[in-house]
Amino acid sequence: MAATDRDYYELLGVPRDADETTIKKSFRRLARELHPDVSDHPEAEARFRELTEAYEVLSSSERRALYDRYGHAGLRSGGFSPTHFDMGNLGDLFASLFGDGIFGASAGGPARQRGADLGAEIEIELAEAARGVTVTVPFEVAATCKTCGGDGVQPGTEPVTCRRCEGSGRLHQVSRSVFGEFVRAQTCPDCRGRGVIIEHPCRDCEGAGRTIEARELNVDVPAGIHDGQRIRVTGEGHAGTLGGRAGDVYVLVHVKPDSRFVREGNDIYSQVDLTIVQAALGASVDVETLDGAVALDLPAGVQPGEVRVLRGKGMPVLQGFGRGDHRVLINVTVPRQLSEEQRRLLQEFEEASDESTYRTDESFFEKLKSAFR
Ligand SMILES: [Zn+2]
Ligand SMILES: [Zn+2]
Repeated sequence: MAATDRDYYELLGVPRDADETTIKKSFRRLARELHPDVSDHPEAEARFRELTEAYEVLSSSERRALYDRYGHAGLRSGGFSPTHFDMGNLGDLFASLFGDGIFGASAGGPARQRGADLGAEIEIELAEAARGVTVTVPFEVAATCKTCGGDGVQPGTEPVTCRRCEGSGRLHQVSRSVFGEFVRAQTCPDCRGRGVIIEHPCRDCEGAGRTIEARELNVDVPAGIHDGQRIRVTGEGHAGTLGGRAGDVYVLVHVKPDSRFVREGNDIYSQVDLTIVQAALGASVDVETLDGAVALDLPAGVQPGEVRVLRGKGMPVLQGFGRGDHRVLINVTVPRQLSEEQRRLLQEFEEASDESTYRTDESFFEKLKSAFR
């Protein structure tokens, strides 16, 4: 049953003497506007049906002549009934109408496909993660064949139109039921949707349109990256088929642990070991940081477990501003092997000490607080 009794020329917005190209162009333009992915017009589907019907009639010289002479009635008596389709199957419809998708890859036949994504792994030092680094990653990728340009056809030869699907790449199975007529489109098995048969496949790629190429990818690892994060490099993956978009490369980044530091988010932790004498008398010690050694002045009486915070000396914030902190944990090492003389001196020291030697102005609670500051 026809979807409309409106004038087909009017529907397509073309004059009565419009040529084939004008009609096709106009249909493409109007169809695109009504595509459900683009349009939220509530009557888009109904209007689309009208439009398709108009196009089906005017794009066929036979039907067009019948319509020109006898109008809708002429078509009906001529046995014309417009294609039935459901909106979920628009890609198929466009493919059958145009031979390929008018919406690019999304509506294209199965022959045009986006290339697959690729995975790669790199390992970097913590210091490299701190300042950012460019790493060259070798990998193998399916690239568009240079000999045939990706169509798989040996240069100098021509593919022939597939006889089974007559070049549409699709087979339409029409079934009738009490609900009407259903058309199911399926990919043509002979040409796998390409619409052509390649009798002379490209010798370099054996008709695949792609060859394996060794490549190197320079991956910019941003400062502040964390272990286990992935970087996506767009469009450097496997080539698509028949002009499909290339896939992406996902680079998994391992950040090697650095024996000097422990990383916790954007903060860096390290430890300094003081002798009991350094701790008691105070000392200036060199502390390794991501930026190199930093002198840290510790007062007399510094205690094990105290933490000194070097502000902004930690890891940079990934894709942000500023840096984390570097926290230095104070450790005091107690002598393990004493000579006779050292033992005697320590005993003397002990005898000369009393409670006041170890007194602190800071409560235990305050000390704990400072550890977590
Ligand atoms: Zn080739
Ligand atoms: Zn075919």
